[in-house]
Formats: sequence, structure tokens, C-alpha cells
Amino acid sequence: MPIDADRLQYIYHRLWVFFVDHHLLGPPAVVTGVVISLIAGEALFRDWNKTTAYRLFVRRSTSAKIDLVYYLLQYTGVVTLLEIVLSFGIAIGGNRLGNAAAEQLHWARITLPSDGIFEIAFSFLVYWITGGLFGYWIHRMYHQPLFWNVHRFHHAAPELNFLTAHRVHPLESLLRVFNFLSPLIILNVSESAMLVALFVGNFVNFCQHSELPWSWGWIGRWIFASPLVHQLHHSTDEEHRDSNFSNCPLWDHVFGTWYGGAKKPTEYGIGDPGYDRQPFRQFAHDTLVFYKSLGFVLSYPVRKVMSLWEVRAENPGAPAP
Ligand SMILES: [Zn+2]
Ligand SMILES: [Zn+2]
Repeated sequence: MPIDADRLQYIYHRLWVFFVDHHLLGPPAVVTGVVISLIAGEALFRDWNKTTAYRLFVRRSTSAKIDLVYYLLQYTGVVTLLEIVLSFGIAIGGNRLGNAAAEQLHWARITLPSDGIFEIAFSFLVYWITGGLFGYWIHRMYHQPLFWNVHRFHHAAPELNFLTAHRVHPLESLLRVFNFLSPLIILNVSESAMLVALFVGNFVNFCQHSELPWSWGWIGRWIFASPLVHQLHHSTDEEHRDSNFSNCPLWDHVFGTWYGGAKKPTEYGIGDPGYDRQPFRQFAHDTLVFYKSLGFVLSYPVRKVMSLWEVRAENPGAPAP
């Protein structure tokens, strides 16, 4: 029996209610479902001592412990609390304000098709590529000196396992205040395409942070950044530095940050054992350095005016600031 568009929409709506709106399931449970399936699948089909399961539960390095504990803190909402506390509410408040402003644009949105399997696949691809552009520039911001103070927590892992994907400093959430600048706000994406994005996005994100030797061919080089592509982003080698930022590598090709050479990473990490020796101390230290740097950046206009006043005080003929 052929499935008509209405029937398909109904099926997707039921799936949406089950996986997204469900009070017990919902996105966090989907995320955990995806990662547990990956951990189990890898344990069945791969060399045991190279798997995430082995690293998390048998030979536990400090880095793996950080990944595991941090993942649990995220799942239980503690990290969200830290995002609110450490950013003084700015990350969440700014994001909500931006979303409310973006909501005003609903009249100008382009509605992507969702009447059949191919239309949904097309809409999902448009969503993925468009979102990838924004994600690319946000990730580049994290590699600028100010945000590197907090992004280095993610990069400090000297080994990768699926859970490293969620090892993200709470203050990275500050850049969410710019979400309203994302080109995604001019797209109306159906529940069906969003559902595909929920599963594919998490699958790609977790896989990228494994040491699986998967390249996914041209799809991995252009559309969905494969594990091999993102492993290079975590490499300590000079020639891999600041490359392969996006989940959608098309944007690395466009903006000249693609690394497609043959050299594999010698090591992962940042060459600084701070997090492996004293994780709490290093976390607190990086957070404080970030505040200090942010204060320095934000106080620039005040310092500029002050210096002009000083020049004027020393030289009364100088123009007023
Ligand atoms: Zn990065
Ligand atoms: Zn990463």
C-alpha cells in the first residue's frame, strides 16, 4: 500500500511526539540512545582495546573520566545550571531574547518541502548545510584567543571517545546569544526534517569524537564531517592547526580551512597535561582567565576614552575625546 503525504506526516508527527515531546524520552534520551548504540556497536565490531567502552570502563585515563563525569553532569542538568551561573544568565537570557526577535521574522521565512521521503531528505540537507555555515563561524570564534580559554577544555583530551563530543565548557554557551544571526532563522523546517537532524546530527557528532577510522568517502569530505576529518581538528600537529572546523566540510573548503592531506594526527590534544593532572584546578584557572580576558575586551572603549583624556590633560591643545 503506497503511503500518501498525509499518512507520512502523521507518522513523523507520532515519532516527533515520541522522541522529542515525550516527557520521559525527549532529546536527552535520544542523545543517550544514540551514544549507547554506538558504544555497543563499536564494542561488538571493533578491536576491544580501541573502543570507547574499553576506555571508559576498563582502562580509564583521567581524560576518559572527565568525559564520563562531564557527560553525566550534562545529562542531569548540572551543566545547564553552570551555564546560567557562570555566564550570569547572559547565555540563556540573550539566547531567548534573540529567539524572540527572530520569531518576528516568521512572515519572511521560506518553508521547506516535507511531502515525501525525497522532499524531507532535501529539506534536511538544506537545514544541515545552512546550519553548518553558522556553526563554522561560531567554531572559528572559539579558536580566537578570547574563547580559546574555554574551548581548550574540549581540545585538551589526549584521546577521543564518543563522549568527548559533549565535553564542552559551559561558557562556550555565551556565543548562543548570536543564534539569531544564523541563516536558519529564515527557514521553516518541518518536524520530519528536524527529526532526521536530531538523529543524524547526534550520530555525526558522536562519531567525529571517536577514533574510528571512517572516512565516508566524498560525503565525509563535503557534507558530514567524518571521524577522520574531525580527528585532524583535534591533532597537535602544526600542519593540522585551525583546520576542519565544520560539521559540514563544504564550508571549510569555501573558507580555506580544509585539510585534506595524507598526514594522520601524531597525537590528539593541546600538548598541555593540565587537565590530566589537576582537572578542577585547570577548569577554574581557564574560567578565570576567560573572565579576565573578557573584561579586558569589554573595557576597551573605557580605556580608550581614558587614554584620550590623559593625552588631553597633558596637552590642553589636543581635541576633546
Ligand atoms: Zn575546535
Ligand atoms: Zn571536537
